[in-house]
Amino acid sequence: MPARETEIIETIRRRVRVRSRELRVGIGDDCAVLRPKRGEELVITTDLSLEGTHFRREWHPARSVGHRCLTRGLSDIAAMGALPVAAFLSLALPTDLPQQWVDEFLDGFLAVADRYDFPLAGGDISQSRQDVIADIIVIGAVPRGKAVLRSKAKPGDVIYVTGALGASAATLIKLQKQRVPLLPFANPRLKRRTTQTREDRHFFPEPRVEVGEFLRRKELGHAMIDLSDGLSTDLGHICDESRVGAVINSNLIPVSAGADLELALHGGEDYELLFATSPRAKVPVEIGGVPVTEIGWTTRERGVFITDLRSKPQRLEPRGWEHFRK
Ligand SMILES: [Mg+2]
Repeated sequence: MPARETEIIETIRRRVRVRSRELRVGIGDDCAVLRPKRGEELVITTDLSLEGTHFRREWHPARSVGHRCLTRGLSDIAAMGALPVAAFLSLALPTDLPQQWVDEFLDGFLAVADRYDFPLAGGDISQSRQDVIADIIVIGAVPRGKAVLRSKAKPGDVIYVTGALGASAATLIKLQKQRVPLLPFANPRLKRRTTQTREDRHFFPEPRVEVGEFLRRKELGHAMIDLSDGLSTDLGHICDESRVGAVINSNLIPVSAGADLELALHGGEDYELLFATSPRAKVPVEIGGVPVTEIGWTTRERGVFITDLRSKPQRLEPRGWEHFRK
């Protein structure tokens, strides 16, 4: 292995601070060794972040790329109602990439792992010709048989969404339109703010780990998914897997400041949670400071529809994310 790669691995090894009882062996051996707690099972997700597809080096500072890359996986863990146990990171880096970029990528990545208290337990580093590629695996744990699936919604369930939607896509459109990069993250005071601005939600989205775990623990979700592709697409996934349809009320969709209904319905990368549950479930209006909003209901008839309750429901086509990338 070239000297640079060995050096990066040593740096990462020194910087991983979290120790966990589940991780018996971490970076440094051929494999990591995990021992789940008694009565738990593991959930595993993998996510690829490709330069040019998921981020651009001229738009996204390295710290944001690291943050977003781990958040994508963590958001999937949250959507199962699980808690993260360990992450793995494989990087392909162009030879001319400044070391500072790598350091700042790791700052962003490890800040997320530290905040949610799980270790980076292994990975790989290699050279690429031109683009940065970051591939992650996140492993989570959930009590046996309790993972919240996409497939368990029942007709007549109430559909809820966390937070507000459309902010990330609104920022993306702004990035596409302007020539000079947006640099809200250059402001060091940003760190101390507790509420996220629209730009923060794009550059530093907060995965809804606590909310997902709360819903699972209180058995408040029949079926759940994280909103990575966009509400219209992701609601379609829950409906397909559960063999139900859905009607959502356009007046109830929580639209982020600076976004509009179109972006809230089809914009991607909000990393909020969407879940369906019994009309008898007592769902709080807020969980850990995150608003939870009722937006519709599931039906026996298949298909996803939207209505303002004044006119006939319209079919809601899945136009999430891809639509905005063009
Ligand atoms: Mg997902």
